Amino acid sequence: MHHHFITELLGIKDSHVDVWDIREEESHFVAELFTKPRMQKCPFCGGRTKRIHGYRWQSIQGPAFTTKEVHISLWKRRYICAFCHRTFYEHLQMIDRYQRCMASVQTIAMKHAAVSSFRTAALVTVVTVNRVLRWFDRKELTSSKILPRVIAIDEFKGDADGERFQLNVVDVENRRIIDILPNRKVETIEKYLKSCDTGKVEMKWLWWIYLKRLNKPFEKHWAIP
Ligand SMILES: [Zn+2]
Repeated sequence: MHHHFITELLGIKDSHVDVWDIREEESHFVAELFTKPRMQKCPFCGGRTKRIHGYRWQSIQGPAFTTKEVHISLWKRRYICAFCHRTFYEHLQMIDRYQRCMASVQTIAMKHAAVSSFRTAALVTVVTVNRVLRWFDRKELTSSKILPRVIAIDEFKGDADGERFQLNVVDVENRRIIDILPNRKVETIEKYLKSCDTGKVEMKWLWWIYLKRLNKPFEKHWAIP
């Protein structure tokens, strides 16, 4: 396969990222990538440098092709600033700092979470539900999920990701779980509702304890079943 085609297939937009090797293993694909040296802007002093300090392999989870995940190994370059002598990793569009998953995988997951559920988002991108929830916690959703006429939010003991309780968002009339929220904080509920299209919602039921915790402007919209 042509290398450019592979990077495109992986959704990599960094033009200086190239493919060393791609192979198929039993349960996944392995793609070894490297970057071409480029003039860098030092994040500390703003000086421009091309001096290389060193390299390391970074493991990144890529998008899933059919049922197989792509494991990416990136030969990542560390630069040293010619002016302030501090070192830093090159900036790449394909992966955010401190992440192990490609930025495009997160985008796909967030889109599925917006129109479907966190569970579907996790299935499609082959990551755990917890990880999708963590991404959701950090990001604002851009697309809106349309919530049904009657929703209820209730807690359950899920013990997921260091939080004892999670919340169920339920479509009451169709007896369907719409979403699971990672914790029972008011901010989480507010953020979730803000990310959704609530134009159709006429009734919201909330477990009584939240009514005590909620702010005044919020209180008006809530009712106890
Ligand atoms: Zn510098």
